[in-house]
Amino acid sequence: MELYTRCVVCNKLDEDGGHLFCKCKYVKHLWQELNLEHVKLQLDERTSAKDMLQMIWELEEMECILMVTLADVALVVGKEPN
Ligand SMILES: [Zn+2]
Repeated sequence: MELYTRCVVCNKLDEDGGHLFCKCKYVKHLWQELNLEHVKLQLDERTSAKDMLQMIWELEEMECILMVTLADVALVVGKEPN
């Protein structure tokens, strides 16, 4: 099975969900605009997707809503183009 590994936002090769959610240079602007850079710094310290999700669920309600929305946008944008 061949995987599509090009970032659909910045077009960089060999990237994964971590790139699209946290590391992509365009997504970093979203973190800034949502005033959630402090959350991103905490997520960067997590070592697994499970730890990241657990941290997100423990955030304040509005931060949690923004994080889930950002993750949803990343997933929608990250789907392979037709
Ligand atoms: Zn990217």
